[in-house]
Amino acid sequence: MGVGPALLLFPPASGGVTREDELVTKGSEIQGSSESPFAMAQAQFDFAADKLRLNPNVRGVLREPRRELTVHFPVELDDGSMEVFTGYRIQHKLARGPAKGGIRYHPAVTLDEIKALAMWMTWKCAVVKIPYGGAKGGVICNPKTLSLRELERLTRRYATEISVLIGPESDIPAPDVNTNAQTMAWIMDTISMHQGYSVPGVVTGKPLSIGGSEGRADATGRGAVYCIQEAAKALKLELRDARVAVQGFGNVGEATARFLQELGCKIIALSDSSGGIFRAEGIDLSLARRHKQETGSLGGAPRTERISNEDLLEVECEVLVPAALEGVIIARNADRVRARIVAEGANGPTTPDADAILSAKGIMVIPDILCNAGGVTVSYFEWVQDREEFFWTLEEIGARLRRIMTRAFDDTLRVAREHDVDLRMAAYMLAVGRVAEATLTRGIYP
Ligand code: NAD
Repeated sequence: MGVGPALLLFPPASGGVTREDELVTKGSEIQGSSESPFAMAQAQFDFAADKLRLNPNVRGVLREPRRELTVHFPVELDDGSMEVFTGYRIQHKLARGPAKGGIRYHPAVTLDEIKALAMWMTWKCAVVKIPYGGAKGGVICNPKTLSLRELERLTRRYATEISVLIGPESDIPAPDVNTNAQTMAWIMDTISMHQGYSVPGVVTGKPLSIGGSEGRADATGRGAVYCIQEAAKALKLELRDARVAVQGFGNVGEATARFLQELGCKIIALSDSSGGIFRAEGIDLSLARRHKQETGSLGGAPRTERISNEDLLEVECEVLVPAALEGVIIARNADRVRARIVAEGANGPTTPDADAILSAKGIMVIPDILCNAGGVTVSYFEWVQDREEFFWTLEEIGARLRRIMTRAFDDTLRVAREHDVDLRMAAYMLAVGRVAEATLTRGIYP
């Protein structure tokens, strides 16, 4: 049955509404904090703007998103019923280039959260000096309860709804939580069907077969590890045998854990949304991976004991990598964090209150806008390769990524030392300064 008849014949599925409500509640619980992510992003921006004595007019411009698009769209489910989904695409600032940012599928997605993520993307692109502005998208849904065909229909319709904004010259999405290379392939195909020819540059994080880049899949983890290596150097910390705890075992968490293990670190704790696992002697990652593939979660992986996600953040270790969702290190638990380095694989995992506590404890926090910028950097490489229709080797990608991440870390550390501030403030000062300069140079239209 097509969507047309479903529209006419079926009343709004009350079961669907209840299910969605339940999911939203669950989603908020796992985020660990009720703080508004956008209020948090604005607070972080304000600290940097104060420190930079930013021109008040530019400050007003940079503090708010440029465009906020909300879409409500129907998707036909496999049983022939229809459900209306809500999605967003936010563009924060475009002064330095087209908007860039991932798309998230999650029951707890909110406009507020997507606005924060879009703002963080603007700063992230500026810290690593790639010529993009910031954007983010999201759809309120639970992909775990949707079939592959339902996900495809949802993605194609969402892509159509936001096609008024996205394009290789204007706004380029990428994967984020619960979206992947296949999601990007569907978006690329949908936009290409509308245009009548292939438009590979409309998204990054695509499969290699349709214009993706070598090294994109684990670029965020690889970039985080380059930062951790630089941080360890600055702290004179030996990474061999260093104990590491990683929250989140998805794209970012898994790759970060894998590369750190290759460097000789001991991964003593790991977690996913269902809970965590711990082994003081180091977890065998391939066993953990296999267990997750077979059972859907990490809990119960051979030769490990179970811990909660809260406990994971408090494990004594040299490197703690929050790589799940925002707002998990908060005022309530920050004092119990026992790591030398907190490497923010996730976006916004530490609230401003918690930041102050970590800083007072002498913990080096590698801020999200620097630590997880490897993903957008290789996305930029992918977009450049698509435009040139000329592709680079994995070695070239790795070398260029290392150069950019190391330079960004060194710039940030230099500003931190010059101004006696922590790395987050330093990264914000660099980023906000660059975006403000571009905004002032372009001037206000008309
Ligand atoms: P993903 O969907 O691949 O993985 C997310 C992981 O987090 C899953 O293992 C999930 O089970 C787990 N998780 C969810 N809630 C949790 C909780 N409360 N406690 C512990 N684990 C939980 O997503 P991803 O792409 O790895 O993104 C993770 C974070 O990194 C997000 O904040 C995202 O915005 C950020 N990020 C991703 C990229 C990228 O390239 N994918 C780039 C930069 C930043």
